Amino acid sequence: MEKIVQTDIAIIGGGIAGLWLLNRLRQAGFSVILLESDSLGGGQTHQAQGIIHGGMKYALQGQTTLAAQAIADMPDVWKECLQGQGEIDLSNVPVLSRQQYLWSTGSLTAKIAGFFAGLALKSQTQALEKKDFPALFQHPQFHGQVYSLDETVIDVYALLRELMMPNQDIIFKIDPMGEDQLIFDHADHLASLEIRAAPMKTIQVKAQKYIFTAGKGNELILKNLKQHTLAAQRRPLHMVIVKHDLDYPLYAHCLGLGTTPRLTITTHKSHDGKSIWYLGGQLAEEGVKLSPEEQIQAAKNELKVLFPWLDFSNAQFTSFCVDRAENTQPNGHRPDSCYLQEIENMIVAWPTKLAFAPLLATKIIECLTKQSIKPCIADMRELRAWPMPALAKPIWDKLLA
Ligand SMILES: Cc1cc2nc3c(=O)[nH]c(=O)nc-3n(C[C@H](O)[C@H](O)[C@H](O)COP(=O)(O)OP(=O)(O)OC[C@H]3O[C@@H](n4cnc5c(N)ncnc54)[C@H](O)[C@@H]3O)c2cc1C
Repeated sequence: MEKIVQTDIAIIGGGIAGLWLLNRLRQAGFSVILLESDSLGGGQTHQAQGIIHGGMKYALQGQTTLAAQAIADMPDVWKECLQGQGEIDLSNVPVLSRQQYLWSTGSLTAKIAGFFAGLALKSQTQALEKKDFPALFQHPQFHGQVYSLDETVIDVYALLRELMMPNQDIIFKIDPMGEDQLIFDHADHLASLEIRAAPMKTIQVKAQKYIFTAGKGNELILKNLKQHTLAAQRRPLHMVIVKHDLDYPLYAHCLGLGTTPRLTITTHKSHDGKSIWYLGGQLAEEGVKLSPEEQIQAAKNELKVLFPWLDFSNAQFTSFCVDRAENTQPNGHRPDSCYLQEIENMIVAWPTKLAFAPLLATKIIECLTKQSIKPCIADMRELRAWPMPALAKPIWDKLLA
């Protein structure tokens, strides 16, 4: 006999977008399940630096861009959650830093002084006196100016754990889905999803709404659309991880003349208690053309130029490439905000940034309300013994065991 599960909402993909939405929909009284084919957060999310951007990064393009406006409200939404007073209680998620520092090398400081002054006027940044510089910049060989920027950095692994914990009964591990598992009854209208997980039997999932938050996995559904033409893009990065014994926790953007910070550094702890410097920014964007060896050499060179007084000779370096998955933009650039599109009884969504996950969930709930989707009778008995996906490990612990 065919095994059937009925739920109001089926979410496909357990990164930040799917997990945030799962929490919000459950609070709103919907029956909901989340299906994940790998580990929770194991796509882009566990590779995020954890910065809750407030728009400065986007403002580097020189004007108040649409992207800068869209993201400006996000830090307050996150702050409330982190204080246990927001839409989701994240009071157990450690804040790694309440601010990012901004600096530039001595020769460039004068050239971008106007940019800093503009940011200071908008109260986004504050020029620091030398005595308030982080310890790393107290060194006599450092000659730049340092600014502090109100930009929180959070522990992404703990975030994923907190979003998962209250929902373990409705999160399920499935085998990677093939096209034959999307059962359409008429063009672009999904009748059911056929899910599998060894050694369990196949189950048909029937939902009022199917929401795809599968990052680059959303391409599976896009490929199977008959009448709609939604498309996805991928923007690659080549990130570098440095594991070392230096006691300099740093959360900072080094600004150059480009529209992306020359280097963005966040600091984390590995499972064996060492310091991790996680390097992104222009280094990661331009490094996509380089082999891992070349990219690591580029990172070493950059650290030598920026911090000639630090010795990384005992540090362990590694790098990895990752694609950011988003809806297509005409010029291939970064979308300004999160994005969702309704297609018949499906929604396909990308947050664009981790920081946008709350906004994306709100927009999806607005969309369900507009369509008068209401909680109905659910039957999830067939999923009782179904396995649960593991939580992804921090990327540095995965790569530098
Ligand atoms: C290196 C890097 C650093 C970043 N740093 C920041 C930052 O500091 N701040 C910030 O705001 N943003 C940052 N971002 C962006 C942010 O990480 C992403 O926008 C966000 O994580 C995307 O979340 P998601 O849930 O859409 O996708 P993902 O995290 O990719 O999750 C998708 C999930 O779907 C699953 N899946 C795929 N196909 C299927 C299927 N068929 N069935 C079931 N499950 C499926 C995958 O296994 C995965 O778990 C960064 C991104 C990268 C790559």
